[in-house]
Amino acid sequence: MADRSTLLIADLHLSPDRPDITQAFLHFLADRARKADALYILGDLFEVWIGDDNPEPLLAEVAAAIHTLTSYGIPVYFCHGNRDFLLKQHYAHQSGMQLLAPHTVVDFYGTPTLLMHGDSLCTLDLGYQKFRRWWDQPWWQWLILHTPLWYRQHLGRKARRVSTSDKMAKSSMIMDVTPTEVPRVMAQHQVQHLVHGHTHRPAVHQLQLQDGREAWRYVLGDWYNQSAYLEVSHAGWHLHFAALPSKSTDQTA
Ligand code: MN
Repeated sequence: MADRSTLLIADLHLSPDRPDITQAFLHFLADRARKADALYILGDLFEVWIGDDNPEPLLAEVAAAIHTLTSYGIPVYFCHGNRDFLLKQHYAHQSGMQLLAPHTVVDFYGTPTLLMHGDSLCTLDLGYQKFRRWWDQPWWQWLILHTPLWYRQHLGRKARRVSTSDKMAKSSMIMDVTPTEVPRVMAQHQVQHLVHGHTHRPAVHQLQLQDGREAWRYVLGDWYNQSAYLEVSHAGWHLHFAALPSKSTDQTA
């Protein structure tokens, strides 16, 4: 049964500005993912999400490609990121994706594994956590999603500008996870395996839980300079990286 595996990806940040990333993702769906047991997308699939009613053609193209994969009997699960947390049931239905709770424990071939986007682990990013508490309110989301599309398009452009300048200003410590938060959340969910994205620092971290047990944290890579996925199977857990189609073989960590 060496062939059976589950794939996990995050932080593709798909947008009309980067057709090379979209092309890599469509190829991944039609090729590598077709041989998988399941595909998990752990947030920030899209650079920005202003509502399921956005007529941008890229969204329909991606939905159709994901739907094709699910039509082959391969389930696709989606956990919201901090960019696409307004993605709702309408788009999930259109793409065939099943929405996951922000923190979900899944059994991977006998290994209970906690899945999340990862932004909730960055507890020292106080400005972001404050923003998130506000935007998590259902009534606030309802209100925003009922404003005219042109207004939300304006908000989306603004959010992208702010987040780009923010990222450069914040210290690297704040942008990474809070070290004490990781074992706390893992103990809370009684797991020894955690997979998340968000930080764009692909790595495998070994740590020790408070009760002395070993634990592993797998961080997924983004797709800005490469395609990146985690493959989980009976044979082991492996982070894979490949060059984007239109780029040369330059790979950055
Ligand atoms: Mn993120």
